[in-house]
Amino acid sequence: MADESIVRAPSAAPLHDALLPFEVASLDLRGRLIKLGPALDELLAKHAYPTQVSKLLGEAIVLTTLLGSSLKFAGRFILQTQTDGPVSMIVVNFTAPDSLRAYARFDASRLKPGQTSGELLGKGHLAMTIDQGADMSRYQGLVALDGGDFEAAAHEYFLRSEQIPTRVRLAVGEELRGQGGPRHRWRAGGLLLQFLPKSQERARQADLDPGDAPKGTAPHVVGEDDAWVEGQSLMQTVEDVELIDPDLSGERLLFRLFHERGVRVFAEQPVQAKCSCSREAVAAMLARFTPKDRADMVENGKVVVTCEFCSSVYEFTPEEAGAV
Ligand SMILES: [Zn+2]
Repeated sequence: MADESIVRAPSAAPLHDALLPFEVASLDLRGRLIKLGPALDELLAKHAYPTQVSKLLGEAIVLTTLLGSSLKFAGRFILQTQTDGPVSMIVVNFTAPDSLRAYARFDASRLKPGQTSGELLGKGHLAMTIDQGADMSRYQGLVALDGGDFEAAAHEYFLRSEQIPTRVRLAVGEELRGQGGPRHRWRAGGLLLQFLPKSQERARQADLDPGDAPKGTAPHVVGEDDAWVEGQSLMQTVEDVELIDPDLSGERLLFRLFHERGVRVFAEQPVQAKCSCSREAVAAMLARFTPKDRADMVENGKVVVTCEFCSSVYEFTPEEAGAV
């Protein structure tokens, strides 16, 4: 490629609603940085959930975008939680190449100030599904949620399912500013870093503790590769504010982290808040119901269906809905 030798200073242009893929070749590291602003604000404002639920859903949206954006073809990445905490369910979809939608279910009576993400989720599981369309096989990875947050769950997922050394950072915050009086906005950011050496041997991680080894058995110890140790320690220096700050450019953050090793950035991938629901799709769904179910849906002389993802409301007459 012609531009391979171009070395330039990091751009100060801020990253809004986009992913920035990058590579630190000297350490065999690859990653993606994301910053979300207006798109996240739109996704969360549609629901008007309590603040802590919005923040938790924001974390799930960042994680979904970091993971789903690796889909090479058309397809959908679905993150879904089912847990016993105050927020009992979260669903986030990333539809290639760029569309996000999300919702949460929660019990308002169990929300308390100061609850951590792990406390809001409680115990249960996190499922991550890649759906490449009707003719393609679905792939699903499951990890237990046991009072931990989405970062911890992502690390567990990569250790068990993908066996690629991976670290993830997620941050969500509120911003109050604007001309003519402050306006509330949500901001978020995330960073995913993976160690992908050419030699598999260098990517080895310690085996998971089988739990049933006889007493006194030495655990399987694998020394981590120096390059990966360095990558992880650089990752630990990332502050939440650096991920959230709308004025700190993505390139400057990556330069701050990796300049000593040389970091190469690739083309930005924009993302947007966009639901795939439509009046036609809702009508097709109604047509699959039994006549009795359709008749039961008539209220005040009409059938009203609200999209759980984007809160769009679709109204049908009983005739249109096939409910007479
Ligand atoms: Zn919708």
